[in-house]
Amino acid sequence: MKLILVGPQGSGKGTQAKLLSKKLKIPHISSGDLLRAAKGRLRKEIDSYIVKGKLYPDEKMLALLKKRFEKKDCKNGFILDGFPRNLKQAKMLDSIMKVDKVIEIDISDEEAIRRLSGRVVCEKCGAGFNNTTMPPKIAGVCDKCGGKLVHRADDTEKAIRKRLEIYHKETKPVLAHYKAFRVNGEKDAKEVFSYIMQHLNN
Ligand code: AMP
Repeated sequence: MKLILVGPQGSGKGTQAKLLSKKLKIPHISSGDLLRAAKGRLRKEIDSYIVKGKLYPDEKMLALLKKRFEKKDCKNGFILDGFPRNLKQAKMLDSIMKVDKVIEIDISDEEAIRRLSGRVVCEKCGAGFNNTTMPPKIAGVCDKCGGKLVHRADDTEKAIRKRLEIYHKETKPVLAHYKAFRVNGEKDAKEVFSYIMQHLNN
């Protein structure tokens, strides 16, 4: 199954993608994680987009994803999180594959800002926590590996607002394009997961 999760930053796409990945036994591919993992000469160029909350160029983003899709673990599909972010990316994706399901995880801008301002990630293993909604056992320390928890460079209020503006202007048309199934992302994560599974089983 080729599944896409669409939602503003902080909607819980990453959390749902991880739960779905475990249940459906297909990998979770986050376009943001792919960009953050890039090394070498690409690093500086990518950072100049991410820090401002701007989109990395569509063609280059697709090229990185295509490489990822070729890996063995994608043979039964994947859960895509963070791509497509605009209609152009959606059409580029349609030209290389047929997407099975698109799910929208919807939250208000106020809730997105509230959640993102509390978001922290582990410097060492990348695990995510939220000081407001999903705090670590010890403040500032990763539950999984003991690494240091830090705010993402693009979780400043200015960059968050920029990303939300892009979401409304550029990403929302993707939902109509795919006739996405909408789920209320402000509900408890377990409830959101069960709505998604119900939809997938229908
Ligand atoms: P995310 O982790 O999904 O919040 O993405 C972090 C940043 O990575 C975004 O603000 C963009 O700068 C970049 N990015 C992620 N996905 C895409 C995409 N599909 N197209 C272009 N840029 C992206």
